[in-house]
Amino acid sequence: MPSRTIRPADISRLREALNGAVIAPDDAGYDEARRAWNGLIDRRPGVMVRPADVDDVATALRLGREWDVEIALRSGAHSPTGHSSTVGGLVIDMAGMRGVAVDAERRTARVNGGALLGELDVAAQAHGLVCPVGVIGHTGVAGLTLGGGVGRLQRQFGLTIDNLRAVELVTADGRVVRASENEEPDLFWAIRGAGANFGIVTAFEFELQPFAGVLHRGIRIYRGSDAQAVWTAVRDFAPSMPSALTCIMAIGRAEPIDEYPESIAGQPIVVVGYSHCGNAADVERDTAALRAGPKPVVVNEASLPYLDVQTAHDLAMGFGHRSIIESAYANDVAPSAIDALLDHAATAPDGASFSITVQGGAIARVADDAMAYTGRDAAFDLSADGSWDDPSLDTANSVWIDRALEIVAPDLTIGRYVNGCTRDGAEQVRAIYGDAKLARLQALKRTWDPDNVFRRNFNIEPQS
Ligand SMILES: Cc1cc2nc3c(=O)[nH]c(=O)nc-3n(C[C@H](O)[C@H](O)[C@H](O)COP(=O)(O)OP(=O)(O)OC[C@H]3O[C@@H](n4cnc5c(N)ncnc54)[C@H](O)[C@@H]3O)c2cc1C
Repeated sequence: MPSRTIRPADISRLREALNGAVIAPDDAGYDEARRAWNGLIDRRPGVMVRPADVDDVATALRLGREWDVEIALRSGAHSPTGHSSTVGGLVIDMAGMRGVAVDAERRTARVNGGALLGELDVAAQAHGLVCPVGVIGHTGVAGLTLGGGVGRLQRQFGLTIDNLRAVELVTADGRVVRASENEEPDLFWAIRGAGANFGIVTAFEFELQPFAGVLHRGIRIYRGSDAQAVWTAVRDFAPSMPSALTCIMAIGRAEPIDEYPESIAGQPIVVVGYSHCGNAADVERDTAALRAGPKPVVVNEASLPYLDVQTAHDLAMGFGHRSIIESAYANDVAPSAIDALLDHAATAPDGASFSITVQGGAIARVADDAMAYTGRDAAFDLSADGSWDDPSLDTANSVWIDRALEIVAPDLTIGRYVNGCTRDGAEQVRAIYGDAKLARLQALKRTWDPDNVFRRNFNIEPQS
């Protein structure tokens, strides 16, 4: 553990040494700068630095290590656990190193370590290209990619890490290292799924995919009493679902009530959402199985520009809401669990729900042992989520999420998506990677970060 916190002399030293900004607790912008996405997180770092370049990153890291203070890395600050901050230590905030450069001819993008998803989406689409990333524009490319990267295009184009060709990072010993399939391949294996543990990534190189930039989307809202029939339709369709189609089924409550028809307002409901990234002419055929079965109470279908969809929820999912998200993989969900989840939804705090996302497609075409990321063979990603603003509802949300996970516990298979977890600890880390990958990661951690400098993350402890 670190032996001390940041002192005034350290702040002066950082101001002398760095080209980028240094933000101390007395500075006017400190409270804004330290704000985490999750309103549950309120940590006061000893100092925050915003490196202007790779040298600044290496200098800040060297000084932080010399002083033996805790070091946290921050890009988009979306870690629901608050890993991108520290109490009293040093935050290396990559917000001073944003920016994306696209090489349209080679179909690649070079993305700086502090860039946000929206920058990459806009830069790639300017050339009719895309990198499959997440669904909210202000998420950091770094945290999302280093964990895996799921979103609306992954069944067609693979996880974000499947499109990652190389990274440049500053390692714990201060070296600038490039990792790819041919350069430090073991490190590159670890970075794709457990990347926050192995260094400070200053640049990513992605392969881009041609994409016309239109999503055909649908939302179908059903009465809770139709849950079994809707689940049967989704489950039976999942193995043969076209790769162009992404599908999620959620069980929750129709709240706020003024946004739903009277017949379901306030009641448990089932929602099926889909996105189709292929030709408009194929959508009806490709979604026919989702449209068979019970009659929905609400149907919304539209074809929209990809860039509009990618930012549509940026405001609603803005900084400051309180949030817990806990996800896990499964190959099936028992009908009794669907019934129990529906009963549980009746008691859901406003903003809490349970979702089942269909995996497969291009995600499953890469071997599970190809990267540290674990779980791509599972048929479904399950997730219990809560989002609320009133602190008096903290316990209710937490308890509701735990119970939802208990309901599906018998169905769970190996692995959890590291970016879909909030609760921390050694047990969670083992559940994320499974025993075999965790052992390999611990050995690699010993090679690349034996002193566990990078520990503000779902931490891989170096092999002893
Ligand atoms: C509103 C919202 C929407 C989301 N949507 C999706 C989604 O669609 N798909 C998906 O896959 N995930 C999604 N996530 C989860 C998201 O991918 C993770 O929370 C991710 O870690 C966020 O990355 P960040 O850079 O914003 O976060 P940060 O909090 O800045 O960092 C997260 C982790 O990455 C480490 N880190 C940050 N920068 C670097 C760096 N340059 N080098 C090395 N390590 C670094 C930090 O130490 C920390 O452990 C979402 C999260 C939120 C809050």
